[in-house]
Amino acid sequence: MSRIVYINGEYMPEDEAKVSIFDRGFVMGDAVYEVTCVLDGKLTDFEGHVARLGRSLKELGIVCDITRDEWLEIHRKLIELNGLTLGGVYLQVSRGNAGDRDFHFPPAGTPPTVVLYTQEQPHMLDGPKVEKGVKVISVPDLRWHRRDIKTVQLLYASMVKMQAEAAGKDDAWFVEDGFVTEGSSNNCYIVKGNTIITRPLSNDILHGITRASLMRICAERQIKIEERLFTVEEAQQADEAFYTSASSFVMPIVEVDGVALSGGKPGPVAKHLREVYIEEARKAAI
Ligand code: PMP
Repeated sequence: MSRIVYINGEYMPEDEAKVSIFDRGFVMGDAVYEVTCVLDGKLTDFEGHVARLGRSLKELGIVCDITRDEWLEIHRKLIELNGLTLGGVYLQVSRGNAGDRDFHFPPAGTPPTVVLYTQEQPHMLDGPKVEKGVKVISVPDLRWHRRDIKTVQLLYASMVKMQAEAAGKDDAWFVEDGFVTEGSSNNCYIVKGNTIITRPLSNDILHGITRASLMRICAERQIKIEERLFTVEEAQQADEAFYTSASSFVMPIVEVDGVALSGGKPGPVAKHLREVYIEEARKAAI
């Protein structure tokens, strides 16, 4: 069955939705995006995603006057039209159709291109990765230095995921100046004793919405989170590791560059945080 998608104010079957070949998102990667998880047909961490979208747009000077309430209405309508219960809503805003290829931004008033669609993910809550945990390799972080802006420039992230899979692993950790920045599409953490360690926020990493929620959840439960840099070697000696993202919640990591963690099985802290996160996300979903 074809999905109903949203494009520039209209809902239509996916094969009828068209974007110009001159669109800045297509030609220049000049676009930002968000992915909001849908659990039981409801949106999780919605406020965080809308707020980060606003920030990404502002940082790049892309003008889009859709309000928070309108975003919510579009998300909800797509969920309803497509009968989505478990998965996510992908949202992308580009600087629009410049009329021709040009490095200069198009004139003020050029409307942005706004596209949203649903994606089913039937195995978001279970599946082999959750059961067995994931194995990661480390790779140099060759991305640009505004990783705090959620742009669609994901080529390097795609390449390292392919590299990890070619090596028989699941994902990659970026390393810069000797320290882990983040995962290819997630924020990462190590666990030492009762303390969770994760890199502090800066322009070096995406300010994960799942990260922010997890930090709040941990604070409410007096679980200690230390925001500081860590190396691959420190991770290899840690008790556990895990990553977070909107589409994977809390995902246990069981191997880093060939070294097994927590006996090669998902660790108790990661498993507990995954349960608590999903429970809280469900409660707060709108
Ligand atoms: N870092 C990167 C590079 C990502 O692509 C993502 C997911 N989009 C994240 C972190 C996690 O962010 P969130 O929890 O908001 O999904």
